[in-house]
Amino acid sequence: MPQWREQLLDLLYPRKCGLCSYFGEQAICPPCFSDFKVLPEARREPSQELDYGVSIYAYEGRAAQAVQRLKYERVTSLAAPMAEILAEAAEQRTLLEVDAVVPVPIHWSRWCQRGFNQSEMLTEKFPPQLLAPKLLKRIRATRPQVSLTPEQRLRNLQGAFSASDEVAGLRVLLIDDVFTSGQTARECAKALKAKGAIEVGILAFAGG
Ligand SMILES: [Zn+2]
Repeated sequence: MPQWREQLLDLLYPRKCGLCSYFGEQAICPPCFSDFKVLPEARREPSQELDYGVSIYAYEGRAAQAVQRLKYERVTSLAAPMAEILAEAAEQRTLLEVDAVVPVPIHWSRWCQRGFNQSEMLTEKFPPQLLAPKLLKRIRATRPQVSLTPEQRLRNLQGAFSASDEVAGLRVLLIDDVFTSGQTARECAKALKAKGAIEVGILAFAGG
């Protein structure tokens, strides 16, 4: 973007923190950032399908707010700093020894409603040669997991994802905004492994 345009945009839309609205250069201001609680580095191994699960921050406080504001309030200024955090964490925790990085997909109807897939935005700072969003599709619209009982959750997601034949023999790292119960990730992993993926793990911005 030419500099004059950037300056004009700054004048029209002064930059502010996407979480507390404090005016400043950063999309996440230092006090909000310091509220993010880093989780221990251990990998969770929730199931047979999913080989590991890693969340960077506890899903609470400002970190939970970041996830919700991006997804439900469309505060897309948060996507870039969150994407940077994820890419950096993936490298530091040696999670990039994979063949493909795949954002957890949303159904096209959800895409029309929201205008973007937050998980796809969160992969934007990963090495481009690893990005392969087309390997996994959400073929069925599902209800938001938060509103359902554990049993309903399981049924809600069954058969919701379909993987491409191209995943055969690949190690896949899924990226999502949240990793809590792990059900969504497990369903993704099931679909990927059904097509021959040899390893599937997930890295999420926040979890518990
Ligand atoms: Zn702030």
